[in-house]
Amino acid sequence: MKLMLKAYAKVNLALDVLRRRPDGYHDVKMIMQNIDLYDVLTFSVSDETIRNYRENGGNSEASERKSSITLTSNKSNIPLDENNLICKAVRLMYEEYGINADTEIYLEKNIPVEAGMAGGSTDCAAAIKAVNEIFALGLSEKEMMDIGVKLGADVPFCIMARTALSEGIGEKLSDVKGLPKCYILVAKPPISVSTGMVYKNLKCDELKKHPDVDGMIKALSDGDLNKTAACMENVLETVTVRLYPEIEKLKDIMKEKGALNAIMSGSGPTVFGLFTTKEAADAAKEYIAGEGLSNEVYVVKPV
Ligand code: ATP
Repeated sequence: MKLMLKAYAKVNLALDVLRRRPDGYHDVKMIMQNIDLYDVLTFSVSDETIRNYRENGGNSEASERKSSITLTSNKSNIPLDENNLICKAVRLMYEEYGINADTEIYLEKNIPVEAGMAGGSTDCAAAIKAVNEIFALGLSEKEMMDIGVKLGADVPFCIMARTALSEGIGEKLSDVKGLPKCYILVAKPPISVSTGMVYKNLKCDELKKHPDVDGMIKALSDGDLNKTAACMENVLETVTVRLYPEIEKLKDIMKEKGALNAIMSGSGPTVFGLFTTKEAADAAKEYIAGEGLSNEVYVVKPV
């Protein structure tokens, strides 16, 4: 059996950090929005293996005999071994449900890596959904989210894959109306930023401004793109922009070229801007690519 799944990237329309917790994690308050930029995961498992599992259920041998999980990809800038979140998710599910299955996975990676777009988390979520579907485990969204949070704070959102308010360390999710029709220009400058480094250097107590997340939720529920754009803000810029001024430059260019607003997504360095017309977004994309400011630049729609 072959199963193909799309794994969508996200941007943070607003990102606030409320406090550093004693366990080292941070309490956040953010609005997550999927965009139609996605990786494609293709899973191959033999029909006989699936039939066997469906007829006989899990077996205790599964934990003794390690299933072979082989991951290949069109990109080489990510780990393709057991460190990949896809392999971690599949391994965890196989152990949990006593599944013994040699599995081949092909990852068509389109989402920029270390970009603040949850590329790894969304692949992880897709892998959990794939195992659920292939072996007809019948897990609810909530059950899959509980498995996902063990592998990353953003994974539950990626399983839900609808616009959400994310709180706690990212695992408390509530539905929020998504962006109205618009075009999103996404540009990743050619630098890599580690999420851990950004959070470590964030001075929560010294933040002078916080985004109006509640105002954004209201603007989204009213379908008001201008007001939504006016509420866009990301407190992690206080760390990443200081280190990489090219992020601020990209934001300024997007706004000069007609974006209603532009901010950094997640811990960066990707910048995104909201446009009302595709023409304006395309023109800004051409300019940014032409100036050599980014070679990973896309015009996409909200999902
Ligand atoms: P986030 O927005 O959740 O902070 P990110 O966009 O900053 O994510 P990722 O693209 O998810 O960062 O990659 C972070 C690291 O995770 C990579 O450097 C890579 O080593 C590792 N990784 C593990 N699995 C994957 C995967 N399937 N795709 C991309 N990176 C992965």
